[in-house]
Amino acid sequence: MNLIILFLSTFGLVFALNFQTLNVSRGQYVAAFLTSILLGVANLVILRAIPHGNGWEIVAYLSGGPFGVIASMWVHARYFNNEKPKGGEAMAHRCNANDCLARIDGRHLMCTKHWRMVPLELQRKVWETYRSRGTPAGNPAGWASYYEACADAIERVAGQEGKSPRNSFRNLAPKFRTMAEDRVRDPAGLSTLR
Ligand SMILES: [Zn+2]
Repeated sequence: MNLIILFLSTFGLVFALNFQTLNVSRGQYVAAFLTSILLGVANLVILRAIPHGNGWEIVAYLSGGPFGVIASMWVHARYFNNEKPKGGEAMAHRCNANDCLARIDGRHLMCTKHWRMVPLELQRKVWETYRSRGTPAGNPAGWASYYEACADAIERVAGQEGKSPRNSFRNLAPKFRTMAEDRVRDPAGLSTLR
């Protein structure tokens, strides 16, 4: 019984260590938080079991590692890799950074690599305007702010990569701005009834 526990705890420890490296390099905050708990548990089990270890227990302890690291790489690539295309993801679309071919989640503006090139302040602005934007017809000013934040982020990345800053967000933002101004001037939309 102790052999299995030892094998599984080294497996878990090495699995979690490698998983954690991948989490940190890709900015997976929630996964990094949870993986730390698994790291602590595996460490604790090993510390308690190994002081009375015999030959076979040492073998069980040592053989958990190689399997742990391979399994960890496979699971992370399978469930967390944003750079590779994922089949069947309903709202998936292309990263908005210029020339980037990465397929990403529908809620995201860019792939992880490009998003990390956007300054934190600007990242926060994109998220805040995204969450509060409502519908285009109901809140055109909110959509204008959201599109302007997206355009700022894309242009910032393009500048760092030496690419063209052209993007559809910049082109569309003024249309929402104009809609919002019309709304302020004529809240009930009476001018369109004439
Ligand atoms: Zn990208």
